[in-house]
Amino acid sequence: MLLTRVELHLLRVGRCRHPEWVTLRGGRLAAIDFPALAALIVHPTAGPILYDTGYADHFTSATTPFPERLYRWLTPVHLPQEERLGAQLGRFGIGLGDVRKVLISHFHGDHVAGLRDLPGAGFLALRDDLLACLGRTRWQALRRGCLPALLPPDFPKRLTLVDERPVVDLGPAWAPFTAGYDLLGDRSLLGIPLPGHSPAQLGVLLRTMDDRTVLLAADACWSARAWREGRLPSIVARPLFADWASYRRTLAGLREVADRQKELLIVPSHCAETLAAFGAEIQ
Ligand SMILES: [Zn+2]
Repeated sequence: MLLTRVELHLLRVGRCRHPEWVTLRGGRLAAIDFPALAALIVHPTAGPILYDTGYADHFTSATTPFPERLYRWLTPVHLPQEERLGAQLGRFGIGLGDVRKVLISHFHGDHVAGLRDLPGAGFLALRDDLLACLGRTRWQALRRGCLPALLPPDFPKRLTLVDERPVVDLGPAWAPFTAGYDLLGDRSLLGIPLPGHSPAQLGVLLRTMDDRTVLLAADACWSARAWREGRLPSIVARPLFADWASYRRTLAGLREVADRQKELLIVPSHCAETLAAFGAEIQ
């Protein structure tokens, strides 16, 4: 099913602090760090590709006015110099201008804040996530966790809708996820809709050079414990989700797949434990 292997590096591009119990039922009362993931995918011929960007200074400028400032109050952000996307890509000899594509999981600020810093990149996103963000009033967009100011002015010209890519049958091992979008046309990166947290949410399935199958799962679960133990976020977090019933179905689906495929590595975007377990290359 996956034909071309890619190099994968998981980067923590800033973090925010939040009480654990909000994100995980039965979690600690204390505030803990939630890393913001950007995955660097180096494709053998298509060059450097990112899955999300993590935080960037644009998040601060976009959340300076009111009402957007509420976003910053809710999730206080820490972005030290060495965690910035440019600094981290630089360690691989890659400049911000070298990134060819960004696969956008969804349009929440902690996933797309760095798009304006990537002048050479095309963007791929699912249609329903885009519609939830664009053409809204400021309050409506904010209510959905979107900050339209984070998108470059030429965003529509640089966008490819994932929904228009060819579809690949995933086979019974991946049920209830039945089909993936062949993002590059060479079966190296398959886009898997993981709806609920946002209306559509793009997960990405890939095989690494050392033969690990990885599902980049964004916010379909906020931690490894969430999919391992089937633990939902607190009821307090529910208004942040686009469709709660569909979020529960997606989480249950991840558990089902993980049960069947013991070797599969599911990577939530905000799980410190998963990032640490992936290896020393985490920056
Ligand atoms: Zn999100």
